[in-house]
Amino acid sequence: MRFSLLRTLGYFAGGLWTAWGGRQRIEAKQLSNLRRLVEKARRDSPLFRRLYSDLGPSSEVELRDLPVTRKPDLMREFDDWLTIRSLPLERAREHLRDIDKLGVPIDDVAIFRTSGTSGEPAVIVSPSSLLEYYYGISLARFDRSQWKPIREVRKAGVSVTITGGNGHFAGAGLNKLMRHLAPRLVGHTAFVEAEQPIGRIVDELNAIPNLTSILTYPSVLAILAKEKEDGRLRIEPMIVRTGGEMLTGELRARVRQAFPSLKRDVIDAYGCTECLVPSIKCSHGRHHVNEDWVILEAVDEAMRPVPDGTLSATVLLTVLANDVQPFIRYDLGDCLRFYTDPCPCGSPFRSFQVEGREATLVRVGEVTLSPLVFDLEHEHARRIQLVQTSAREFEVRIEPADAAEARDVFQEVSQSVKRVFRDNGLIDVTVRESQAPPEITASGKFHEVLPLQGTDPRT
Ligand SMILES: [Zn+2]
Repeated sequence: MRFSLLRTLGYFAGGLWTAWGGRQRIEAKQLSNLRRLVEKARRDSPLFRRLYSDLGPSSEVELRDLPVTRKPDLMREFDDWLTIRSLPLERAREHLRDIDKLGVPIDDVAIFRTSGTSGEPAVIVSPSSLLEYYYGISLARFDRSQWKPIREVRKAGVSVTITGGNGHFAGAGLNKLMRHLAPRLVGHTAFVEAEQPIGRIVDELNAIPNLTSILTYPSVLAILAKEKEDGRLRIEPMIVRTGGEMLTGELRARVRQAFPSLKRDVIDAYGCTECLVPSIKCSHGRHHVNEDWVILEAVDEAMRPVPDGTLSATVLLTVLANDVQPFIRYDLGDCLRFYTDPCPCGSPFRSFQVEGREATLVRVGEVTLSPLVFDLEHEHARRIQLVQTSAREFEVRIEPADAAEARDVFQEVSQSVKRVFRDNGLIDVTVRESQAPPEITASGKFHEVLPLQGTDPRT
């Protein structure tokens, strides 16, 4: 696998050229990229050849002619899905079973897995073109205020990624891969496993000299902010970046206060393993789709487009920079809302906001609750988790800051949780204390609330 700086500059220059041409040039570029991908998929992927057998010529295809694709169907036919024949699922799985091969290419591609928070994990195959797109387009679309601190930080010290280390996830894997493919591009980096006990994460971070930047999930960041407030965490980062989960305004403000060393607001990206960077967030807080290389369609439950301004039931993703593993109108499961007006930043690219991931909502009978309604913080606990164990039963798992207080913490937390249920008309819900420690997802995210598995209709 070779990472080409020249092709990266091609994405950069092309990305600028497309943006300068406004809507007309963006839409033309998107359509020609789409038709080229459809042609390649029909020619070299047996699965897409079957799927598109009734379509007219690829040079006349429109997006709406193409059927929606879903992860379980694609994974079931993995060996027919790729446009290369040298990577059957069994070979990919064998690679993924060996953690020493994290971020090590297999022939001309890199492979990662998704966390499987909404069902079976997917195996994601990234050719070098996707990585070149990732760097080239970021370079083209970041504004000066976004680049300046990133450049300064790279010169000044160590950038730390804190994500799941128990599998081939893109967070840690991409870092390792790029260190191997293009070391000058990534600078000094370190990795800390998010699934360790908090005390150990704090010790590891405190031991890194000259730590200037952090990349992690919002749920891990919330814990770090608390550790910093309580004086256990002593790091003074200049930049904090997040991704993979929803970042609330409340957490953003809290982090700003807890880490006075920050040079700018938390940089929050909307990303997924399938595309790495479908959009870039501007200084006005909107996510702008990289429409020349990515298509995001906000749709309802029947996969019909919803008007701008309406919250979608899911989103269909098309990745135009990956012709090895085609993602075309792929049901991603996220809820988005496109803005109806142009962004004050002047970007010609359509913008949206993310409304959280459906899989984290809690369903009790007919009532659906956001995890944000529960107050799961306590001064004597490092972290608290509410787990739904059956339709109307929950347990509270506590990682105490001080063993003697565990009982009182449970009493107070369970009372506040029961109050939330009562306020929502739910009186027959049981809340129990659990001796088990809080559970971390496969990719190292910490969810304060774990809904009952299998209640999401898509899993
Ligand atoms: Zn904008």
